[in-house]
Amino acid sequence: MEKIIMLGTGHGSVMNSYNTCFLLENDHENLLVDTGGSIQIIKNLQEKGYKLTDINNIFISHCHTDHILGLCWIFKKASVSFLNEERKSKINVYCNFEVAESIKKLIEAVFPDKLQEVLNENVLIQVLHDGDVVNIAGENITFFDVHAKSNLLYGFETILNCGAKLIFLGDETCNPILYDKLKGADYVMHEAFCLDSEENVPKFIKEHHATVKSVCQTMEPFDIKNLIIYHTEDSHDNKKELYTKEAKMYYSRNVIIPDDLDEIILNKND
Ligand SMILES: [Zn+2]
Repeated sequence: MEKIIMLGTGHGSVMNSYNTCFLLENDHENLLVDTGGSIQIIKNLQEKGYKLTDINNIFISHCHTDHILGLCWIFKKASVSFLNEERKSKINVYCNFEVAESIKKLIEAVFPDKLQEVLNENVLIQVLHDGDVVNIAGENITFFDVHAKSNLLYGFETILNCGAKLIFLGDETCNPILYDKLKGADYVMHEAFCLDSEENVPKFIKEHHATVKSVCQTMEPFDIKNLIIYHTEDSHDNKKELYTKEAKMYYSRNVIIPDDLDEIILNKND
């Protein structure tokens, strides 16, 4: 069985939920996609029953605080277990070159020499290029540049072992040059900052992010069976209900609005 475990569903500045990150898991292994921005990554992993030693593969989509900084806390905990020889398995971090440079600088800036040493030895940074196909946790994953406006942001697509096509588009509105990829996909993960009715958000956010209505209208022609909407604001207790209601008005297939810690079972849909 393959599933997505949402460890966070919020945008970069949320206070009541965690920043968007998730585990893509099959029966044997998992890939952690982004890490959020704080130690809550450890807490949320624990709440879902994971120890840090269960996390051996991490993909960081881009070097914004709400995606990369959780890595510091994973490294902080892991470096001590490497030092004490409690942990043997290395950590693979997959990312584009911009993220790779940032991770190296972070390690140098915030960890004492001794921990830097064990991290440099045990964290394997795998630099990705546009179009690279990598087998991670038993899944062939194709990474690609989403051509984001803000910085170098990579998404990925994969045909899961169950046969379903899953596409992760990062945290910016989908660039039209990627539309061809989306056609007929079983699952597409796309951000939406807020409901359309709440679109009185600052201009810089509008330039980079979608609303529930706008993402549904954009995705409707592509016959995507399941549209997963994440990286949202978190001001509503009943976000799932409100967002689903707006989505249903503009999207005819299934829409999934996950909350933090929700699990999405992945299946090949007809
Ligand atoms: Zn973000």
